[in-house]
Amino acid sequence: MTASFTYEINPGRVLFGPGTAEAVAGELGRLGAERALILSTPSQRADAQKLAERIGPLAAGVFSEAAMHTPVAVTLKALAAFEAAGADCVVALGGGSTIGLGKAIAWRNDAPQIVVATTYAGSEVTPILGQTEDGIKTTIRDAKILPEVVIYDPALTLGLPVAMSVTSGLNAIAHAVEGVYAKDRNPVTSLMAVEGVRALRDALRVIVVRPDDLAARSDALYGSWLCGSVLGTVGMSLHHKLCHTLGGSFDLPHAETHAIVLPHSAAYNAQAAAQELRPLADLFGDSIGGGLYDFARSLGAPLALKDLGLKESQLDAAADLAVKNPYWNPRPVEREAVRALLQRAWEGARPE
Ligand code: NAD
Repeated sequence: MTASFTYEINPGRVLFGPGTAEAVAGELGRLGAERALILSTPSQRADAQKLAERIGPLAAGVFSEAAMHTPVAVTLKALAAFEAAGADCVVALGGGSTIGLGKAIAWRNDAPQIVVATTYAGSEVTPILGQTEDGIKTTIRDAKILPEVVIYDPALTLGLPVAMSVTSGLNAIAHAVEGVYAKDRNPVTSLMAVEGVRALRDALRVIVVRPDDLAARSDALYGSWLCGSVLGTVGMSLHHKLCHTLGGSFDLPHAETHAIVLPHSAAYNAQAAAQELRPLADLFGDSIGGGLYDFARSLGAPLALKDLGLKESQLDAAADLAVKNPYWNPRPVEREAVRALLQRAWEGARPE
């Protein structure tokens, strides 16, 4: 029998396929916007400038200082640039860092957002903003934060370095893994999760060999859209809490941390959520933890938190922080078990 559920579907318009980045001008017209502030990180500034040239008078300017974890100081600078340029909307070209800046602006002034997504992190389809101020990362969920239009043009991802493609893809898979056992899951989010992981599994295997394979790049973006949509709809548990703690308090890089922790957090919940995780374990032909670990290793992903600079002496503090505020997880969150999980992730050992 299908279990009862409540499904709150996020609104949004998605354009998918090679060449869709050309549609930015038309999408601005649909939104009734006339002056877009284009956002990027410093490393994608040239792409942002090209986009500005393409849309000509519709571009109010380029702000290319987006940074990881959305520092409030950068947002305030971008808001000043938005005002000074007389902008009426934002176009974020990039991954989670740039999208976070667009969301932070929209949360403050309700500007419409167009996102041209170039990684697999999934932020473009969530109403969630994580921002940092004075070393503290806070998370806000609000309808104003959800971008109005998302453009997935796989041609723009051909240059995403292989290492980043792998960790970003595993970051997307992590949303799906936690999505299938989420307390507020429903049959549609579970379908999206399994299909998203399947698409990413197949695509990443090709991308590590042929990074410029457009078909694989398309499939990876399709998978990341599905996995991101799951993240934007249902609640996350132990895995995301651990990564949030490790990123926020120990300054570990976002996608790499997700990639390393995922097999261990999945193994932690393997028995408690065995039925929900079964379709995902089947995709990797093993137990969920061991299967994800072998998959990550086959792609050349980082496997050990110690390689990201975390010290063994910091694991106790990380475990304390990760169990501090109670939250729902299929298996009770116990300090000693979480400490043991972190030890294995730190060493890079295969989950038992
Ligand atoms: P990122 O946006 O920081 O990108 C990493 C680097 O890769 C940047 O220098 C970027 O310019 C570059 N890059 C991106 N796409 C590229 C491409 N196609 N070709 C070449 N270079 C490219 O990385 P990310 O993992 O996408 O985002 C991480 C951030 O997003 C974190 O701050 C995380 O907290 C946030 N995030 C938020 C949500 C949410 O729902 N709020 C979801 C996922 C991630």
